[in-house]
Amino acid sequence: MSPAPAPRRCLVTGANRGLGLAFVRQLLARGDHVVATARHPGKATALNTLAGEYPGRLHVLPLDVADPKSRTAFVRELPLVADGLDLLINNAGVLHSGERFGQVPMAQLDDSLRSNATGPFLLTQALAPQLADARPEQGRRGAIVANLSSVLGSIASVDGFHTPSYAISKAAQNMATALLAQVLAERGITVLALHPGWVQTEMGGSGAQITPQQSVQGLLRVIDNATVADSGRFWDWQGQSLPW
Ligand code: NDP
Repeated sequence: MSPAPAPRRCLVTGANRGLGLAFVRQLLARGDHVVATARHPGKATALNTLAGEYPGRLHVLPLDVADPKSRTAFVRELPLVADGLDLLINNAGVLHSGERFGQVPMAQLDDSLRSNATGPFLLTQALAPQLADARPEQGRRGAIVANLSSVLGSIASVDGFHTPSYAISKAAQNMATALLAQVLAERGITVLALHPGWVQTEMGGSGAQITPQQSVQGLLRVIDNATVADSGRFWDWQGQSLPW
């Protein structure tokens, strides 16, 4: 029998609901240590209940990925609860619906870029010193950075003028993924852009195709099977390659 894999030190952003919460539940269920962030931890009832069920293994910290002060405070606080990171899941994201050409508000474009692209990029840059390097001699793989992307950010798949603020920001996030993959490769760190499918969350709506549990189960399988040779790839929750 092969030994059980060592518990991983994980960080999930935007973890108070939707896919983020499902990631936290599944990572805890398999024995990992999790830092879960929320904009308003005091209101994150499900996370706080989980923290009571998994004392010492789940820490809930405040983080607004779009806010520089919040990111700085978080990056300073993280080492107090986690000694390095094996898995960073940049999950937090926003979708402003109902945008029409001629009426796309700058504030929504700006908010989408900060929340979906520049915020997660700057967070990853600031956390880079805390990401685990690969240590092949000890059989240890490098950290994985999983950026929750979307097919709506795929330039090759554009079909109509839909959700422009979201699409533009996710395309920008895809470039951030490709660049981070380049710069972190020498440390054996893998960076992936992952489309979770169309998922039943507040963002995806109740008519979506799959549950957060199904999506996260697939995404964690994809993450587990990824190696540094896959860094910079764009995959869906079933491991299918997507065009940029
Ligand atoms: P939800 O809208 O259900 O949840 C979004 C989460 O992100 C919430 O926890 C929200 O916090 C948080 N969030 C939003 N903005 C910020 C911010 N500036 N700082 C910190 N946290 C923030 O979305 P999903 O769970 O469905 O989506 C998760 C990820 O998956 C997103 O990146 C999304 O783009 C992507 N995705 C989802 C799809 C789907 O079908 N659901 C399809 C394709 C991609 P709060 O509660 O405070 O608002």
